[in-house]
Order: sequence, then structure tokens, then C-alpha cells
Amino acid sequence: MIIVKELCKQFHNNMVLKGIDEHIERGEKVVIVGPSGSGKSTFLRCLNMLEVPTSGEIWFEGKLLTAPDTDIDKVRQKMGMVFQQFNLFPHKTVGQNIMLAPLKLGLMTEEEAQERAESLLKRIGLSDKIDSYPSQLSGGQQQRVAIVRALAMNPDVMLFDEPTSALDPEMVGEVLDFMHALADEGMTMVVVTHEMGFAKEVATRCLFMDEGKILEQAPPKEFFGSPKNARLQDFLSKVL
Ligand code: ADP
Ligand code: MG
Repeated sequence: MIIVKELCKQFHNNMVLKGIDEHIERGEKVVIVGPSGSGKSTFLRCLNMLEVPTSGEIWFEGKLLTAPDTDIDKVRQKMGMVFQQFNLFPHKTVGQNIMLAPLKLGLMTEEEAQERAESLLKRIGLSDKIDSYPSQLSGGQQQRVAIVRALAMNPDVMLFDEPTSALDPEMVGEVLDFMHALADEGMTMVVVTHEMGFAKEVATRCLFMDEGKILEQAPPKEFFGSPKNARLQDFLSKVL
């Protein structure tokens, strides 16, 4: 589904991604961990071209995203993204937030978008919040709405950048549980997180990033049970 070839990203003279090669298959749940500043967010943002790579190639479903003639807005419809800060539009209701993109892009009629919003909100138990504003919701509720807003577009892959890092601890579980359910349904997911329990339970593959490189990758059992790279061993000794 996603192929990354020799991806490099430089900000001014700071080389943040130093040659990343990666394949992500349909249905995989890839969890990325690593120290702060190692390039995890930049990597995720390069996957849907929120950051333009300095060099290298990103392929998604057979399309070369880094080609100048690629219609990136069209591609992004199939790549949902969820950020640490929930990024809901504060002046729009929950329902409007969910319906906005499908309507704006002409993918659904008003009625279809309304129905889709209702069924997505039902799924997360927030049917009664459709006319509420984001500020009237808890952080956990806002983040679950942000996830269903991305799902409204029927994406083929969901990218998550530390989706629970800004939440009060008691709200982390409801967001992780929802992500777990999505994973069980077969959604392809790439998740940057510090939640090692989630990585162990849900990941099909864990990647360790440090200083702009992927230093190790393995299924979680191996990744956590017998890490080979010394920097990963050190990292795990601090976070586990
Ligand atoms: P992580 O998500 O692993 O914490 P990031 O990808 O956010 O790491 O950042 C990696 C490095 O890239 C950091 O040194 C950060 O300061 C730098 N960086 C990220 N985004 C930008 C930007 N838009 N402009 C300049 N430097 C950036
Ligand atoms: Mg980050």
C-alpha cells in the first residue's frame, strides 16, 4: 500500500530524515516509537505530503506522490490523519466537522453526509453530541470525533501522530480502545505513540526511529522481548 524509498527530509541545514526505506502492506498496523525529536512526526507527515520530502520517493496505492503532477488532495482523501491536538474546527458543530470534507469535495449529498455522521457518532456513543461544539466535549470525546471525522472519508489508511499524548490520563483508554477496534476491523494503520501496551497488543510491526533513521523493526514480541539495537534497548529500559 505504501512504499518509501530513500526518503530524506531537511529543514534548513538540519537533516531530519536520513534515508528511510519502508514498505507497508494493506491491513498492517505499524507502530512507530522513538525519542522526541527523532523524526517520527516528520516521517508520518511525509507519507501524505504534509511535508514535502527533500529527496526520495513515496508511493501510495501505486501512485508516486512525490511526482510533480500528482493530485495530492485526491490522494489525501484516502489517507486519514489524526493529530495530537484534536484539530476540530472550533466554530463548527461536531456534525458539521464530520460532514465538512465529504460535502466540500462533493463526495456525498447532504443527506448521505448527515447519515454517515450519525452512524459514526452512534458508533462512538456520541449521538447526542451532533449539535454540540468541540469545546463542550471532553478531550477524549474530541479525539474520538477527530478519528471519525477522518473515517467519514472512507480512508484506506489511517495515520495517527501521538493521538493520546494531549489527553488527561483517564481519557487515554477510550481513544486507544476505539483505535484497537478499528485495527480489529482490518484498517491499515500507522501509529506514532508512547503507549507501549497498545504497541504490544495491536501492532503487527513496531519500528524504532532514532536520529532520522529506522534502526530496528520487528513484530512486537521480538521488538520488546529481544531488541537487538543498543539504542532501542536503552530506549525501552526508560519507557517500560
Ligand atoms: P518527533 O516527532 O520524533 O518528536 P519531529 O519529526 O517532530 O520529531 O522533529 C524532528 C526534528 O525536525 C526536530 O529537530 C524538529 O525540531 C525538526 N523539525 C520538525 N518540523 C520542523 C519544521 N517545520 N521546521 C524546522 N524544523 C522542524
Ligand atoms: Mg512528533
